[in-house]
Amino acid sequence: MDKLFALLDSFYHEMVDIRRYLHQHPELSFEEVKTPEFIAEYHRNLGHEVRTGVGGRGVVATLKGAKPGKTVALRADFDALPIQEENDVPYKSKVPGVMHACGHDGHTATLLVLAKVLNQLKEHIEGNVVFIHQHAEELAPGGAIAMIEDGCLDGVDVIIGTHLWATIPCGQIGYRSGPIMAASDRFEIKIQGKGGHGAQPHVTKDSIVVGAQLVTNLQQIVARRVKPIDAAVVSVGSFEAKNAFNVIADSALLIGTVRTFKEEVRDFIEQEIERIVKGTCLSADVDYSYHYQKGYPAVVNHKEETEFLAKLAENVPGVSSVFEMEPDMGGEDFAYYLQHVKGTFFFTGAQNPEWETTYPHHHPKFEIDERAMLIAAKTLGNAVFTYLEQRGALGAREEKINSQVS
Ligand code: MN
Repeated sequence: MDKLFALLDSFYHEMVDIRRYLHQHPELSFEEVKTPEFIAEYHRNLGHEVRTGVGGRGVVATLKGAKPGKTVALRADFDALPIQEENDVPYKSKVPGVMHACGHDGHTATLLVLAKVLNQLKEHIEGNVVFIHQHAEELAPGGAIAMIEDGCLDGVDVIIGTHLWATIPCGQIGYRSGPIMAASDRFEIKIQGKGGHGAQPHVTKDSIVVGAQLVTNLQQIVARRVKPIDAAVVSVGSFEAKNAFNVIADSALLIGTVRTFKEEVRDFIEQEIERIVKGTCLSADVDYSYHYQKGYPAVVNHKEETEFLAKLAENVPGVSSVFEMEPDMGGEDFAYYLQHVKGTFFFTGAQNPEWETTYPHHHPKFEIDERAMLIAAKTLGNAVFTYLEQRGALGAREEKINSQVS
């Protein structure tokens, strides 16, 4: 493994260069053109088998080891966000209103350089490595489902992914068996009252008053209806009813998000929101429409693969601690891969301890400590090698036993 680590160290500068190049040229979800071209070209130059346009805009590259064996998939997403960058850095985004504010530029750079290094070590690899470069993680329905339907997991035995995380100090690795990220849904409630003059409320049906009641009433769901040990969030993020100061609102629109870890809690909340909307609107004699849109399901890690990864991470140079983290209420479409094959999704700390302020993901001043990419690459590379080595040996033993039996 020392060879792997040393090679990754020697290509660290390239990793930084790639990340900064991608950072300057971000592309929005489902609009990625140059990024997948760049990725495909990089893999082609390594001599990997490359498939483009997978599930729309995804890229899948395969590295075949010198000996046959199992297949490990590694996934990195590559889309950016509709955010105007506020960082003053030489590699600032060159696209107005678009920014890599979630670290997906770093994920891609990590995976590409790791692919290069694994390629140089392929004579020692017993099996295959599939590099899944996914488009459109930030926007539901996301790229993962379409890529899976287009066969990106065909023949894959195990999948591993990581997220560089700006609020975890660089050097730390966060893992968790079971749910690690939440199901992330969106709801929309339109209240249809009866507008009129602000001085004559008695002849109107005030949508703002009903909306305000709804925002408050919806809080009952988590506080009083969901079992306390089941985590859930119901947040109204948008409340729109724009009028002049002396007008009573004809209609109001509430948009919000629901986060859960269990499918039954998810379905329960969907139904309870409607019950509250129905009751509140009935008492105010107004009409409503309600739409609940399911986003990504929860990311649920497999136990054996998670423990395997966590144990290996402890011996990776640069890793100061490996800790079992609390689940995060954010969403990730890595969830879909784990519904098809075994695997794990972990967090690589990317917070620079010297920074005075750490901005969260999706913030206009979001930034990562680039050294985290090296740690992520070493952790992933180590896992690939060890998994294929152990499973390869296991597979050979099983074959031997089978041939003896028959
Ligand atoms: Mn992300």
